[in-house]
Amino acid sequence: MKDTRYIFVTGGVVSSLGKGIISASLARLLQARGYSVTIQKLDPYINVDPGTLNPYEHGECFVTDDGAETDLDLGHYERFLNIPTSQANNVTTGRIYQSVIEKERRGDYLGETVQIIPHITDEIKYRIRLLAQNGKYDFVITEIGGTVGDIESLPYIEAVRQLRWELGNHAAVIHLTLVPYLAAAGELKTKPTQHSVKTLLELGVQPDVIVCRCERNISEAQRNKIALFCNVASDSVVESVDVETIYEVPLRMRDQKLDLVILRKMGITDPRESDLQVWEDFLSRLKNPTSTIHIALVGKYVELKDAYKSILESFIHAGTANQVKVKVKLVHSEFVTEENVAEQLSGMSGILVAPGFGERGIEGKITSVRYARENNIPFLGICLGMQVAVIEFARNVLHLEGAHSREMDRRTPHPVIDIMESQKKVSGKGGTMRLGLYPCKIKPGYKISEVYSTELINERHRHRYEFNNKYLEMFAMAGMQAVGINPNEDLVEIVELSNHPWFIGVQFHPEYRSTVENPHPLFVRFVKAAIEFAQTK
Ligand code: GLN
Repeated sequence: MKDTRYIFVTGGVVSSLGKGIISASLARLLQARGYSVTIQKLDPYINVDPGTLNPYEHGECFVTDDGAETDLDLGHYERFLNIPTSQANNVTTGRIYQSVIEKERRGDYLGETVQIIPHITDEIKYRIRLLAQNGKYDFVITEIGGTVGDIESLPYIEAVRQLRWELGNHAAVIHLTLVPYLAAAGELKTKPTQHSVKTLLELGVQPDVIVCRCERNISEAQRNKIALFCNVASDSVVESVDVETIYEVPLRMRDQKLDLVILRKMGITDPRESDLQVWEDFLSRLKNPTSTIHIALVGKYVELKDAYKSILESFIHAGTANQVKVKVKLVHSEFVTEENVAEQLSGMSGILVAPGFGERGIEGKITSVRYARENNIPFLGICLGMQVAVIEFARNVLHLEGAHSREMDRRTPHPVIDIMESQKKVSGKGGTMRLGLYPCKIKPGYKISEVYSTELINERHRHRYEFNNKYLEMFAMAGMQAVGINPNEDLVEIVELSNHPWFIGVQFHPEYRSTVENPHPLFVRFVKAAIEFAQTK
């Protein structure tokens, strides 16, 4: 059993300061010193998981190997650490209450009044410690969502206070705040930080380290001021200045010895050497591309970049692997028409049609697929993106009039995409899709074999509908082949066009498995095909 230490990351002043990136960066620094680390996100909202949330609310829903629908910060954790997370890495207030109420009904608390303290806080503490139970981790980093002072986050801060007391120097708290620059005054302001730490102190928690998010460097004098007012040493005031790419943050944190300060607080004074070579190599390739390649991402949530977080990050990984900068043009599928598609997608060397749900923007996606198919532009369709590629082929190549997915048109004469058998009886919407890792067998002899080096792959899923096998032969005869099949359930996982340089649709989500150290091969090959396309033009 490992002697696990716990680090808590809280935030103050405003949201969106990048607690997830700071947590992931610190984790990466500890990992670089040979420690095993995992990161957990506690979300104070009442949804049991973010699966039922509109992407406009909290951005993309990330899916883990074990099929948990989680906060997008888990994506950052995986991309930075290159280790998978699981359901246990994301806990919401909804889930906490659900299990406390279930226990109450079961009679686990017979005779007691069930209260926030101790029952809810005990459940929170249990979920935090659960990650350490398998004995794998030296460090568990727990990021508390929301902002200190919010009503919703109070039980979490209280749980941190208690754990701090119970764990002694096996626990540390990092508080992330904003140090705004006031242009009129020409200065950075530390007062919001002081107030935010005061709020934390009122709740009984003294932070060990304060990370200040700022637009410009903090002076020595300001650092000392924050230290003095917040009861920390001045080397425990760390600045997090805006940087060009999130992948730079671990190095900026290392420059300021964030990892060493934390280790010292936790009684480790002689840590192993840090080896971040792989990371530094990645960053230098990322910053020195040899050319730029333009790829369109066609989706309906494009107003909010976070809605396609994992896809955009996968392009960064894949671009770096190919030594190019991938410039992604976000194209709103609702506004793509037959008349303007050429203009909207002009200059693109690759077209990706995004995952999604529901009717809105669907015709624009179909039109974009047609443009990619007819103009030999490299195409990658993900989940709904694959499904619309199938619909497009059915309508325009097979001339199956009115072909559609049963999701969009219950009465379509040609349901080329249909509800999965196992989904027919499902009525609840939360956590009931086909979720998580499923195997897929690759058919040899197609382009997809250049993508994957093995014949049996595993990829993450999040869908209810599937390719309708009744049409399999018809499609194959006309040139759209099913080249990846789930061997246990005979579901089509990958389709590919024969008469096209690079046209692949996948029912799963490759973007959830792309990391800095392991860029996903589908994205790597897609970008490569786009480079080749650009060269022929
Ligand atoms: N809406 C489609 C389905 O449920 C696709 C889902 C997705 O793109 N993640 O099958």
